[in-house]
Amino acid sequence: MLLTKNFPLAEFEFSHTALMHGIDNNIPPEMFVRARDLAREIMQPLRDFVDSPISVSSGYRSPELDRILKNKHQGWISHSQHTKGEAADLRPPFGWTNIELAQVIINLGLPFDQMIVELPNRGWLHVSHRSGRNRREVRTWLGEPGVYPLGIVL
Ligand SMILES: [Zn+2]
Repeated sequence: MLLTKNFPLAEFEFSHTALMHGIDNNIPPEMFVRARDLAREIMQPLRDFVDSPISVSSGYRSPELDRILKNKHQGWISHSQHTKGEAADLRPPFGWTNIELAQVIINLGLPFDQMIVELPNRGWLHVSHRSGRNRREVRTWLGEPGVYPLGIVL
């Protein structure tokens, strides 16, 4: 099943950690629409603009998976929107940085709720979408506990 033409649901649900711990990480049916809207409103237009594959390193996280990740990684921030099917971590395609992807999302006027530029220039981009109530908040994560307003002018 596809969320949009370039984003399979299976990729949005896949997690190495869930696999290793035998956790069911299938998105509950009532959350599917949120994931589909995130892909439709943000991920697919972004992907179309950059015209290169963007992989989802983490999409849906069941509450159990989220707990394990929190315990496992020091400085890990639990983005609860992953547990609601509203958020995805996007790996920039070759030749792009996470800051540039955030810039494209802003320039295209896409209705994001929150973006977190995780490890600027070398990491990934966390992006969320909520139907009808998007804050357009941009923050950064520097590998320590806590997220901060992005000190980089986009
Ligand atoms: Zn995230």
